[in-house]
Amino acid sequence: MQELTHYIDGKHVKGTSGRFADVYNPATGEVQAKVPLATQEELAKAVDSAAKAQEGWANTNPQRRARVLMEFVRLVNRDMEKLAEALSREHGKTIPDAKGDVQRGLEVVEFCIGAPHLLKGEYTASASRGIDIYSMRQPLGVVAGITPFNFPAMIPMWKMGPALACGNAMILKPSERDPSVPLMLAELMTEAGLPDGVLQVINGDKDSVDAILDNETIQAVGFVGSTPIAQYIYARGCENGKRVQCFGGAKNHMIIMPDADLDQAADALVGAGFGAAGERCMAISVAVPVGDETADRLMEKLVPRVEKLKVGPYTAGEDVDYGPVVTAAAKENIARLVQTGIDQGAKLLVDGRDFKLQGYEDGFFVGPHLFDHATTDMDIYKTEIFGPVLTTVRAQDYEEALAMATDHEYGNGVAIFTRDGDAARDFADRVNVGMVGINFPIPVPLAYHTFGGWKKSGFGDLNQHGPDAFKFYTKTKTVTARWPSGIKDGGDFNIPVME
Ligand code: NAD
Repeated sequence: MQELTHYIDGKHVKGTSGRFADVYNPATGEVQAKVPLATQEELAKAVDSAAKAQEGWANTNPQRRARVLMEFVRLVNRDMEKLAEALSREHGKTIPDAKGDVQRGLEVVEFCIGAPHLLKGEYTASASRGIDIYSMRQPLGVVAGITPFNFPAMIPMWKMGPALACGNAMILKPSERDPSVPLMLAELMTEAGLPDGVLQVINGDKDSVDAILDNETIQAVGFVGSTPIAQYIYARGCENGKRVQCFGGAKNHMIIMPDADLDQAADALVGAGFGAAGERCMAISVAVPVGDETADRLMEKLVPRVEKLKVGPYTAGEDVDYGPVVTAAAKENIARLVQTGIDQGAKLLVDGRDFKLQGYEDGFFVGPHLFDHATTDMDIYKTEIFGPVLTTVRAQDYEEALAMATDHEYGNGVAIFTRDGDAARDFADRVNVGMVGINFPIPVPLAYHTFGGWKKSGFGDLNQHGPDAFKFYTKTKTVTARWPSGIKDGGDFNIPVME
């Protein structure tokens, strides 16, 4: 059995706690490795050496720091196949989807190569006679990233790219379910020239997260995961005086207007609803056709597409639409929620409950499910299922559809399919959700824009990546300077005001 490690001071380091978590191959259901769960002491030691390394890294000029990221991008591209295979083996997603996971992370690192420009401060010459004012952005020190299982390459890179570009050291605590890719990324950072200690990967569970939240050296925490944990981390981190941003769960609606191209909408729904087995925070999990006629026509197009989906192991390559879910517990939770949908009266048009794959009977595969005639009081509508289950709630008109997305407790992503520019514009303006797609089902913004949900999908003031990340990972210092020629004799006892 492979024993995974932590990555501290540029080396793989065995865990000393004696506690481990199982890492599965979700396609076969086998335990393929065990990952150590760090103690508070292991975390504290890693933080201490990160703090020492951070001083030198902060004093390295931003362009040299950017060159390390540039080389990292080259190395990740060199190792793309290896990374994608390791990712699929632990997560279960298909190889093309795993490459997308790596690629969308890499794009943020590419954006961070522009750090010298983004870190430039502001300057006011002659704010008053002989007085200049300038602001500079300085790194925070040691920061932490706590990441979820569903994007084991992308989200760690969303954290480490901006944090390191700004001159911080980072403690990355990846998901214990698929920790290999984050460890490989840390190795590649070392190979790219990142000084030892600037990026430390600490594997662990709640104990190490609590140790991060209570550690006095760690200045900021960036979290991505489920909403209850996001709320917990936000509250405890803030209470301990840290800068915290936490991104949580989702229930993303897609509104289908009567004038939409229904073939396009149906294609978008199968891709966005079932890709990665629905284990995406930007997956579409609720379809909202407007009007019964639209709904009936949409279902006619959707049912055969959902029935045709190919479910299988990543080793089948391009021949599979989606793979298994991450654990047996996730599979059971999905089955439980599907049952509540049936019990509460929704109509199960495509029933994936008996799905079996020959040769992979112990894998965590879940067949595709499509519900129609669900209502907003049902558990399948209110809860994030995080599986291959698409729930249809019919709306009688546009206002009702808009209200559904707006009133739902989550506010990560939303989409509208329509040919009507007025409706699309009104929707984008009024909907109470952070990321909006117009005829675009998964509106994940590109690296140079920012990513973040509203309501219970996001806690904190700033979004991930884009310019916001550079604000989150730096603090502003403002200097007011007057040189001797501008200084008058005598003390000034009143608050200075502009002359
Ligand atoms: P999770 O909340 O179970 O775990 C996320 C991280 O928190 C992991 O590193 C885990 O070790 C840690 N953790 C788990 N339980 C903890 C506890 N009790 N105390 C402290 N730390 C704990 O999430 P997950 O299952 O890995 O990921 C799926 C969730 O993440 C979904 O809800 C999904 O919507 C969400 N997600 C959100 C975004 C976003 O940007 N909004 C992106 C990806 C995933």
